[in-house]
Amino acid sequence: MTQPRSDSAANIFVLEDEPDIARLICASLGDYGFRCEHLSTGRQLLSRARQATPDLCIIDLGLPDMDGMQVVRELQEGSPCAVLILTGRNDVTDRVLGLELGADDYIVKPFEPRELVARVRSILRRYQRAAAVEPAERTIARFSGWTFDSARHTLTAPDGREIGLSSSEAGLLATLLRRPNKILSREQLLGERELDPFDRSIDVRISRLRRKLDDDPQNPKLIKTVYGAGYLFSAQVAWE
Ligand code: CA
Repeated sequence: MTQPRSDSAANIFVLEDEPDIARLICASLGDYGFRCEHLSTGRQLLSRARQATPDLCIIDLGLPDMDGMQVVRELQEGSPCAVLILTGRNDVTDRVLGLELGADDYIVKPFEPRELVARVRSILRRYQRAAAVEPAERTIARFSGWTFDSARHTLTAPDGREIGLSSSEAGLLATLLRRPNKILSREQLLGERELDPFDRSIDVRISRLRRKLDDDPQNPKLIKTVYGAGYLFSAQVAWE
């Protein structure tokens, strides 16, 4: 994730198929010194985001070539950045799915330009604060009474038992714990070295992790299966 240097230096991609709305968004943000780039199809945005990682993408859901939700999903897999969904779709399911896919905020059209600017600034500030506070390399994660040491590949249970993990299990757990409460696809969990998204071994590793975490596979509380989408680590996680 790129960290914006300051509000005004932030680079914003605006994905919007209606030219009038795109102009309004870019003019409103431009007044506050943001640099905006307008793209009118999902494919255009995804290919542009691979060349130049934006600080934030403003994404419309109703697009001519693909659903905006799919754009959010692919963006988070390939070029993660802050996302604000700006859409005419005022539906709780869309809102929840958007946020679960990693969007930082959701605004329903028609929108008030000053509110849009305020939300954009608040998202960018949040990322700046996180970058300032978090040390670059944190190796210990605590969640639900458990401690995971990603350098030593060990888990310590709430009762003090120490459990060893293989390096692939530790890598998978670290990936889940870095982005808790977000749906991660199999591709995201496999990492970049293993390219076969149909590799079922991810499921095998997940079940081994569940066993080590005493997580009931029939009714898992920590590593939840999201059918058709991937897995989600459901807990408050603190890295130190
Ligand atoms: Ca639209």
